[in-house]
Amino acid sequence: MLRQKAFMKKTKSGKVLKVVKEHYLRDDIWCSIETCKVCEHTESVLSTVPSINKAFSLPHYIIPDTNIFINQIDVMEHALITNVIVLQTVLEEVKHLSLPIYNRVRDIIANKEKRFYVFSNEHHRGTFIEKLKDESPNDRNDRAIRVATKWYGNHIKDFNPRVSVVMMTDDVGNRDKATADGLQSISVKWYIEALGNAEILDMMSSAKDLDDGQKSIYDEHLSPAHVSNGIKSGKYLQGKLGISSHNYLEGSIYTKINGEEGTILIVGRSNLNRAVDGDIIAVELLPKSEWRTTPTGVVVDEDEEQAEEESLKAEQEAAASAAKEDAVMAEPEAEKPASAEGHKLDTPQPCGKVVGIIRRNWRQYCGFIDRKSVHTPAGSSAPVNVLFYAMESKIPKIKIRTRQAHTLLGKRIIVAIDSWPRTSRYPIGHFIRALGEAGDKSTETEVLLLEHDVPFHEFSKQVLSFLPVEGENWVVKPEHFAGREDFRSLNVCSIDPPGCTDIDDALHVVPLPNGNYQVGVHIADVTHFVKPGNVMDQEAASRGTTVYLVDKRIDMLPSLLGTNLCSLRSNVERLAFSCIWELNDAAEIVSVRFTKSVIASKASLTYEEAQNRIDDANMQDDVTAGIRILNMLAKKLKQRRLDMGALTLASPEVRFSLERDTQDPVDVEMKELKETNALVEEFMLLANISVGRKIYEKFPDSAMLRCHPQPPSANFEKLEKAVARFGIEIDHSTSKTLSDSLDNAVLPDEPYFNKLLRIMTTRCMMQALYFCSGAQIEQEFRHYGLATDIYTHFTSPIRRYSDVMVHRQLHAAIDSSLSYGDEITDKEKMNDLCGNLNHRNRMAQQAARSSVELFTHLFFKNKTEEEEGYVIRILKNAFIVLVPKYGIEGIVYASAKVPKTDSTAEAGSAAPQPILVYNPETDCLQSTETLAEGETPKTQVQLFQKVMVQISIDDDLKGGGEGGMRQKLKMELLKPWIEGISVHGTANKDDPEAHAVTSTKSNNKREDAPVKAQDKKRASKRTKA
Ligand SMILES: [Zn+2]
Repeated sequence: MLRQKAFMKKTKSGKVLKVVKEHYLRDDIWCSIETCKVCEHTESVLSTVPSINKAFSLPHYIIPDTNIFINQIDVMEHALITNVIVLQTVLEEVKHLSLPIYNRVRDIIANKEKRFYVFSNEHHRGTFIEKLKDESPNDRNDRAIRVATKWYGNHIKDFNPRVSVVMMTDDVGNRDKATADGLQSISVKWYIEALGNAEILDMMSSAKDLDDGQKSIYDEHLSPAHVSNGIKSGKYLQGKLGISSHNYLEGSIYTKINGEEGTILIVGRSNLNRAVDGDIIAVELLPKSEWRTTPTGVVVDEDEEQAEEESLKAEQEAAASAAKEDAVMAEPEAEKPASAEGHKLDTPQPCGKVVGIIRRNWRQYCGFIDRKSVHTPAGSSAPVNVLFYAMESKIPKIKIRTRQAHTLLGKRIIVAIDSWPRTSRYPIGHFIRALGEAGDKSTETEVLLLEHDVPFHEFSKQVLSFLPVEGENWVVKPEHFAGREDFRSLNVCSIDPPGCTDIDDALHVVPLPNGNYQVGVHIADVTHFVKPGNVMDQEAASRGTTVYLVDKRIDMLPSLLGTNLCSLRSNVERLAFSCIWELNDAAEIVSVRFTKSVIASKASLTYEEAQNRIDDANMQDDVTAGIRILNMLAKKLKQRRLDMGALTLASPEVRFSLERDTQDPVDVEMKELKETNALVEEFMLLANISVGRKIYEKFPDSAMLRCHPQPPSANFEKLEKAVARFGIEIDHSTSKTLSDSLDNAVLPDEPYFNKLLRIMTTRCMMQALYFCSGAQIEQEFRHYGLATDIYTHFTSPIRRYSDVMVHRQLHAAIDSSLSYGDEITDKEKMNDLCGNLNHRNRMAQQAARSSVELFTHLFFKNKTEEEEGYVIRILKNAFIVLVPKYGIEGIVYASAKVPKTDSTAEAGSAAPQPILVYNPETDCLQSTETLAEGETPKTQVQLFQKVMVQISIDDDLKGGGEGGMRQKLKMELLKPWIEGISVHGTANKDDPEAHAVTSTKSNNKREDAPVKAQDKKRASKRTKA
């Protein structure tokens, strides 16, 4: 049967079109129930014996409405929910409302064990309905769901009267109508409670059960219309909230204030007004009199926590005694006492208040239940409200309702936020799943991947289906030579860190008769295997980058490509994309060209092997001779770059030696670089610059480039002040002046000073970013750190998706006969891709850092070490010390800790006593005695100060001991002695045995291929570039 529906539609250009929608109603849509004799389905999805639930007398199939999927997707994913009929009406509505949830529903449907059947009710003759006059689309769809439920009910009766169907909806009106129609219906809450399973009960979103007439703690958010008008008129400012990692009650947005870009601080719970890190918010500026004049402090919020804990305790005790299901939480009203110390900043910083949320950026968070918030007796499974700490310090505590409090203590769990009503101090969320025991290395690694939004699932079958069918037996065949130059006879070699299996780049050099050199950089031809738009390409684009952790690597591409078919290993033929220069003796470019090629690398060397060949006069083979020439040219290239103002920055990077079986860290040390690291780096930089120019010339609007903005002066203020006392001046007006300043900043009796200054300068820098050339003016293309006017990433397509895209653009630029899609020409698409890659990149760096942190903590477990360190940052009530030997940093508090007892639990009285206070004029922490004019304080702590610290693992953790917050490094001051802050060392220096054990192990390890932190790929310098 064919139904037609015609309507008129106005196009963008104003033309009026008659659109005829055809709607086929079919008779061949089956119910998919195993035992059905009426339908002719061959494979059925729904089982004969469907779900059983105390709420019903008969086994039943569930037909949920749209909002059940939208609001309770976590519950629907639970293994206990099976035999569900997903109506086409519902599926289409879900798709329209939320694509992420739609994708999750599709995943459930694909999971055979879940038995979710999509019933095309809109095409079924018995269930299709027309919209009635005056009926809203919503009402029409609700009716369609009831009609389909009725149809199923009648259909089943014919062959299995012992089974029923149940409509699931939280809409009371719809349930009433269902009852009137003689249908069974139920709310999700009733249904889940009748299941009596603690886990799935905890997973229920609480979004609906709120607002119980409690007192509001927060101001109301303005309506979307109000907010958007306010932003248009300039009354409100819009921005993405970034919460300080030192203080979760302090955030900021970067936005335009009166036409000038600047930062607005948002300080305190009530000004943040329920905004969470990453939310897009609307902010109203506070009057100037309320602008901030003191620097960032570390949050000390104990009084408030105490109050919250008290209330949870009272509530849980009440719940336990009265067994009252819905105990209301009494929210305490304690606000943080204003802690304004006397000092002022020169210019007050603009401050604001959140008036509306434009877009939430809530996601799932990893963390743990605060032990102190659980007061029910062990073994109790009464539902209680407890507090969840996200591992991420920027996320507020989340209140969840759970029946598994005792089972979950000590575990890492995942939680989602459902809502943040005005009446609740903390956002309200629900439990999703448990990851494993806290402190367990693999659990903690999963936590840090989830925390940094790193996709780490196995590649799907669909992705793998796009790999070459020959698998590992794939070889270069004659047909591959079409459009490629044959470089197999060249003395190509690669130089990488030890153990590198994903070799993206290789090099060669040939002296030319005219005295110049032909130099080639050969890059793995990944785009030969990864075709635009297929599932493998989409997966790589979404992952964006390979993520390197201390003990594992999360690949961007399936390993068959990454470590085999694309990897430019020695003694096999490989496809490459080559950049060939003629360089003169001064390493100046005479000409450059690009070509697809076939190479056969003669040697895969480590940095050390390459260095040894250069140094060993007996080595005179062709490959070694080539490396010597490349080294000579690289030095000249580097000198010229430095002359142009390229920066040599530093970061304290460490590597671990891991024990082979346990993968536990047995040694940690700073990385050292060899000359040959620089050799490879120079040619990669040169290739990236040459390719950047070429693709920009061909695609001026859509080239994928990489810029590094000039850092604003404000970033250098404190550093400049601090080095002034050594008589050193930093001129950061250009990268050249900055580079010269750094070169000259040498203190003869403090050899580490220059390195330290470079580390601190690195932190004044902006992030380097991918961008689409059409989205920025040419002046902003500049790469400040590399001192070049254009830059891109071409040299690592195995582990960076940016390079994959750049390869496609370069190929299109050199081969005019090539046909290509709009993925390389569409400015919008390119812009979006850059956004994703920048995000993934940032997350990958942070995940790598967290991984190093995790291993550092494992390394220091049960150890106490005394080490020399330097003060690298001053906070309002603390300072941060860098210990060069291990490349680690820690906070030293400048307040005396008052031991917490019950009698000091009242708000305010437990506040630590400051011993040193911050002086913004000098950016120092100093003792509090009154000073005469020109007198220096008795004690002060300032940047660059050398100190002795004691390092151990802090066991006094938020969330109460074992299973609480990830272990933290504890740094305590030994020297200088500051009464009330410093401690007497307890490190056991006279235990030679302990030392001997460690060093033997690590020595062994070092001889047989040590695994190194982040060192699997030549690292950070190039990644950052
Ligand atoms: Zn049937």
